[in-house]
This record gives sequence, structure tokens and C-alpha cells, in this order.
Amino acid sequence: MHSIEKNIDQIQRTLPGKVTLVAVSKFQPAEAILQAYNCGQRIFGESKVQELVTKYNNLPKDIEWHMVGHLQRNKVKYIAPFIGLIQSVDSLPLLLEIEKQAKKHQRVIDCLLQFRIGQEHTKFGLDQEQIKAILSGDILKKCEHIRICGLMAMASNTNDIQRIEMEFSTAQRLFKEIQEEFPELDFHTLSMGMTSDYPIAIACGSNMIRIGSNIFGDRI
Ligand SMILES: *Cc1c(COP(=O)(O)O)cnc(C)c1O
Repeated sequence: MHSIEKNIDQIQRTLPGKVTLVAVSKFQPAEAILQAYNCGQRIFGESKVQELVTKYNNLPKDIEWHMVGHLQRNKVKYIAPFIGLIQSVDSLPLLLEIEKQAKKHQRVIDCLLQFRIGQEHTKFGLDQEQIKAILSGDILKKCEHIRICGLMAMASNTNDIQRIEMEFSTAQRLFKEIQEEFPELDFHTLSMGMTSDYPIAIACGSNMIRIGSNIFGDRI
């Protein structure tokens, strides 16, 4: 068995059934993606628009592409025709641009709001107040071409397991609060967990993990 196939198999074997595996293929060549594809993987995550568009054009059309990196507003138009899920929505203006481009292409684009958990370990993301303001605002009600499906969050890059647990639990708490406060939303995806921390994320209620290096090996 090739190593990519073996890695995916090993991860899938430990996953509870309700957890979706996103193979984060950024900086990986098309051949590596095809190897994963050939053993059944269909969802791939990318972090750069240019790379995402090139890969979309050159790879099988039944791949579901997720944008997981920071997305600039002026680049939404390039991915709007085909993107399956934008996991990294970190501002209201970005959300409105996604609505505009989705409308142009007569589609509904699924989005996750990127939650920045407490500490300043990432530049991007929204805090709890900003997320609730977006969800309760009138603007969203007029957006018929986006569907906010849940949250994406990253834990600090640390070996401190308790801290990671605390951060994922914070995201889980917010996720549940939103489900209760906004029952009209189709809010069902909690995307958290990467190579180094996904078992902890799953224990904290994650139902979508984003794995790169553990599948493809180190990025060049
Ligand atoms: C790169 C990346 C991942 C995957 O990271 P690994 O540690 O290689 O598993 C997951 N999520 C986001 C947002 C990323 O940018």
C-alpha cells in the first residue's frame, strides 16, 4: 500500500462515523492528490486561491474543494463558481462579497465562520461577539446565496494539551450556544483539529478535521 493510502486508512479507522475528513493538500502536487482520490478521498482543503483554481481545473470534477486559508475579498470571484465550502470567513465584508459572487453564479455557497479562540495565536478570525453580531444582524437575512453552516477554529500551536483542550472546549461551547440561539440556521459543522491535535478536537465535539502532513507528509 502506498503511504498516502495507508495514512488515510489509518486516520479513517480511528474516526467516529460522524467526523468528516478534509485532506489539506496545500503545496502538494496533483499526483499526491490523485493518490488520495484513488483511495476514495473526495474532500480536499487548500489555502491559496491561485493554487486552488489550478488544481480545480486539472483534477477530477467530483472533488469537493474547501478553502481553509485567509481569503481576500478581491479573490472570491475566482473560486465562487466551484468552491464547496469556505471555512475561513473572518469578516462581514468578506461574507457580503461571497454573497455577491455566489449570486452572480446562481449558486448557494456554504461557509463557516472562523472563530479566533481567546489568545492571539492567529491573525485572522472573529471573536464571539463579532460572530453573534453577524448572525443576529439584518444583513444576513437578505443574503440568499450563502449558508452559514458552522464554525472553524484552530487551537494554539503548543504542546500544552490542557490548553488545547480548553480552547477547543471554548469553541464547542460557542457552537452549541449558537445552535440554541439561532435555531433557524442550518448550523451543524464544527471544523477543528489538524495533524497534531485532532484526537483532542474530536473529544471536544469536532465533526470535521483538516489533516495535511499526517496524510501527505511534510510540506516542501
Ligand atoms: C495547513 C492547515 C491545516 C493542516 O495542517 P496539518 O498540521 O498539516 O495537518 C489545517 N487547517 C488549516 C487552516 C491549515 O492552514
